[in-house]
This record gives sequence, structure tokens and C-alpha cells, in this order.
Amino acid sequence: MTLLYIKRTFDKINAFTNRKEASQPMSVLNKKSLEDFDVRGKRVLVRVDFNVPIKDGEITNDKRIVAALPTIEYLIKNGARVILISHLGRPKEGWEPEFSLAPVAARLSELLEKKVIMAKDVIGEDAKSKSAALKDGEALLLENVRYHKEEKKNDPAFAKELASLAELYVNDAFGSAHRAHASTAGVTAYLPSASGFLMRKELEFIGGALENAKRPFVAILGGAKVSDKIGVISNLIDKVDSLIIGGGMAYTFIKSQGFTVGKSLCEEDKLNLAKELLAKAESKGVKLLLPLDNVVADRFDPEAEKKTVSSSSIPDDWMGMDIGEKTVKIYVEEIKKAKTIIWNGPMGVFEFDRFAGGTLDVARAVAEASENGAVSIVGGGDSVAAVTKLGFASKMSHISTGGGATLEFLEGKDLPGVSALSDK
Ligand code: AMP
Repeated sequence: MTLLYIKRTFDKINAFTNRKEASQPMSVLNKKSLEDFDVRGKRVLVRVDFNVPIKDGEITNDKRIVAALPTIEYLIKNGARVILISHLGRPKEGWEPEFSLAPVAARLSELLEKKVIMAKDVIGEDAKSKSAALKDGEALLLENVRYHKEEKKNDPAFAKELASLAELYVNDAFGSAHRAHASTAGVTAYLPSASGFLMRKELEFIGGALENAKRPFVAILGGAKVSDKIGVISNLIDKVDSLIIGGGMAYTFIKSQGFTVGKSLCEEDKLNLAKELLAKAESKGVKLLLPLDNVVADRFDPEAEKKTVSSSSIPDDWMGMDIGEKTVKIYVEEIKKAKTIIWNGPMGVFEFDRFAGGTLDVARAVAEASENGAVSIVGGGDSVAAVTKLGFASKMSHISTGGGATLEFLEGKDLPGVSALSDK
């Protein structure tokens, strides 16, 4: 009787400990990467993001193809038989010519200065025979994986068929890592799986900051709406030393403190949440900075009348469009002290030159901090567009290639395309 009792107690403790272990997130830095495998002579299925804009059969921006080159070139150089797979746009079902990846195969051949073979299908006869016939150092591009509705459904039979084309799987499509699709996650059930170089860089920079940032760690959050960034703010409050808030979402915070914000963007239904976030930051000893002054406009227009007012006296008919000069000074001082910076969302309506000043000054400060040794990461939403438009992109340590994936990563969510990769 006593023995049975002890055993049951022991089992309960065990079950509890196991459960605890299972719920502990595995470090993203612990995932196998391409270089952990000998790829020579192996057929390697590489998930890339070739979802490029195409107009009248012409690729109008090949940035995403260029971004995948290091992984593809490494595989070719090391004698792998490369099988590339990607989605393009949103085909309804089956083959639709405007969603064909054929123009991408042509562009990729030019960039690699080497012919990339194009398959007419994804898991059909053509894909199978062409992947089987690949020689060491050759590359094949499969057709748009979204021609199969099984892709988005993460259908196991489809994932297994895909996997049967290869002996190793590499995921280099960080921008799709938040989706549990057959080609981003399902396929890993049947193949050893590694990150490509582009994916690796995202994991090292963003994962590195979230798991083990050099301090002080400063997050700069802006953009239009608090509601889009709630998850990011609450996750980062647990990790950063300072949180700088700007952009349209600052006005919900300002109003939650009892001020009026005129016609500024404000989410009335998020006022309580804003208060709670401010209280959470205070209880955690996180310095949360809100604008002290603002550039306001009489209308939402690039030529609008403008003036600078304090956050406690925004006139009724005016709207906050940018952070003011005093605020810029305080934010820049905080950024200067940082050793790790994550920036998501512009400080104002940067698309209008008259209201781009705050974003420009913050971008310059982040770039300077970077030059002085801080790790700077820009990603998610419009911040990449802002930093690029203002000419600071090359100064940042890392510009994230993911939109939704970056936001979900910053929210602390599990990314299926990452957690599915083999552990070291
Ligand atoms: P997000 O995609 O969330 O990063 O939001 C970016 C958008 O927020 C940009 O288009 C900005 O113009 C806009 N934005 C930033 N500040 C403001 C503001 N004070 N009022 C209105 N829109 C803003």
C-alpha cells in the first residue's frame, strides 16, 4: 500500500516535471543550421521566399531572390543537388499562369550565372523526374507550392510527397516561418531539417536579443495602432530596460493618463489596456518613455499647417503627426546608452516629409549607436520602409526580412517554421 502510494506520488512528480520541461521553449539558437550537415551529393529541399512582385511577366523587385543567394550558392558550391520551393501570391487552386515561378527561375539563373532548371509541377511527374536527375551542384525550382491547397492545410500526405524528393530540408524563408504549412513545417516530420543562412541571421539577431541581450536593452515602438502591437509591448516589457513609444499609438497612452489628444489617432477601447501596460512597466522597473511634445497638424495632409505643442495641450482640432523636438532629445539620449536596440514602427507619419523629422532623428541615433557597437535590429511593420526611405538601412546591424513573422517573434510566439527544425 505504502509502496503504491510512493510510486503514484513519484509518477505525479514525474508527470509534472515532464510537463514543465515540455512547456519550456527550446532556444531558437539551438537549431541545426545548414553547415551542421554534409550536403555533398545530397538532394536538399530548400524552402525559400520567392514571393516577389511580378508585373506583365517581369519581376519588379528581386530583393527576396537576392536575399536567398548565400544559401543557394553555398549549396551549389558544396556539391548539393538543390531543389528550391516557394509560394508566390495567392492562387485559388491549381495552375494559374500569373502565379507561375518561371520568371523567378530565369532571374535566379542570371543572378547565379548558372541555369536553374524549372519544374512544371510541385510533386508531379516532372518534379520527380527532374529532381531525381539532378547532378551535384545543380539547382531545380519547383512550381508554386500554393498550387496545392494541401500546402496551407499542412496536409501530412502532401508534406511526405514533398519530402520524398530530398534527403535534407533547409528552411530559409523566415517571412513564412509563422505559418505551419506543409513546406514550412509539415515536411520536417520526414527529413532532417536545418536553417538556411537568411533564417539563421534572423534567429541569431532577434532570438539573440530576446534570449540574451547585451544591456541596456532599449525597444523603440511606434506605428499606427496600439492594438497591432499589444503582444509585442507586453512581451518586450518583460525583457527590456527601456521602452520608447512614439507614432500614432502614443496618443492612446497619453489619453489614458487623463490628457486630451484632439483629433490624433486614439483607440478608446484600448485606454484601460494602455494604463495596464504603463503600470506593468512601472512594476517591473522598466523605463517607459512617452512623447513630451508633438508636432501637430490641422489636417492629415502632406501640406498641412503644423506646430509643436506639449502632450498636455494638444488643441481640439489638431492631430499628433510626429514626436516633438524635446521628445527627440530625450529619446536620442536613451538610444545612445543602449547596447541592444529593437525598433518596430515609425515615430510619426514619415511618408509626409513635414512629419518625418522624429523618425529621421531616431533612425540617425540608432545608426550612430550601431556604429558605436550596439546591436540594432529593425523589423516588422513600416519601420523597415522608414529606415530604408531615410537612407539608414545599411547602418543597422540587422534589418529583418519578415513582416508578420518578425512581429510574432517579438511577441514571444512560437514560430512553427523554426521550432520544427532539428535541434543540435
Ligand atoms: P505600422 O505598420 O504599425 O508600423 O504603422 C506604420 C504607419 O503608422 C505609417 O504608415 C505611419 O504613417 C503611421 N503613423 C505613424 N505615426 C502616426 C500618427 N501620429 N498618426 C497617424 N499615423 C501615424
